[in-house]
Amino acid sequence: MSLENKVAIVTGAARGIGLAIARRFVMDGAKVVIADVDDEAGEAAAGDLNSLGEAMYIHCNVAERLDVRNLVAETLNAHGDINVLVNNAGIVAGADFLDLEEDDFDRVLSINLKGAFLCSQAVARHMVEKVESGGAPGCIVNMSSINSVLAIPNQIPYCVSKGGLSQLTKATALSLAKYGIRVNAVGPGSIMTDMLASVNDDPAAKNRIMSRTPMLRIGDPSEIAGVAAFLASEDASYVTGQTIFADGGRMPLNYTVAVPDED
Ligand code: NAP
Repeated sequence: MSLENKVAIVTGAARGIGLAIARRFVMDGAKVVIADVDDEAGEAAAGDLNSLGEAMYIHCNVAERLDVRNLVAETLNAHGDINVLVNNAGIVAGADFLDLEEDDFDRVLSINLKGAFLCSQAVARHMVEKVESGGAPGCIVNMSSINSVLAIPNQIPYCVSKGGLSQLTKATALSLAKYGIRVNAVGPGSIMTDMLASVNDDPAAKNRIMSRTPMLRIGDPSEIAGVAAFLASEDASYVTGQTIFADGGRMPLNYTVAVPDED
């Protein structure tokens, strides 16, 4: 198993893509810490995953420095090490540019971007200390998006946060390369989670997405978990500072795809 006995923190893992990553990591042999703000869903997720391997839940708002400090301390207390961090927690706040509220801009940036910075710095301090005392380096995987490069006019803070996360990935990778600590990102396209659930009941919205998705289907969270598992594994031992896009072909597409009628 590629993550046998590794300790992995996955933020925002009570549901959606984060939960799929937590599940995949547990199946790959990791001891997983689910960090989220939804305590009920987080505890339930950890309970489910414990039937497959080892998982625990820790409450953590990634935008809060003290919560992050506590997450690292509690993980080290429980497992004595942290080998992998997945910065997955993320939110959206839709509004036209002219109506966008400052608070919404700040909220999205503080979770999606500052949260990844706080968690990365706190975990990297532990990883560097370990390397300096002869231990093996760990790695960080950020959950970016195709919207780190492409843009949606009524998702300004989200696109800005993911663009920032792309630069955070590169700059952190360069800073930590000398310790052997790798930092990469996954850039999903449209993935079927609660974030996208409304599309299921809206044929026009689904058609819009399909017209920009050459593989003509919405992705499954497990397909993002597979990329995260690769980046977290030794198979990616010489990969750092990269974003791997898993988007059904959207990024290379210029125009649109002809979408067949649904019967
Ligand atoms: P999701 O289903 O909404 O799950 C996100 C989880 O993060 C929820 O459990 C949420 O809790 C939690 N969370 C929110 N704020 C948090 C905070 N401050 N601290 C810790 N946890 C927090 O989202 P998803 O679709 O799985 O997305 C996961 C990641 O993938 C995000 O970074 C997103 O930007 C990225 N992504 C998703 C897609 C997609 O199509 N789904 C595409 C590209 C990128 P609450 O529910 O209580 O808020």
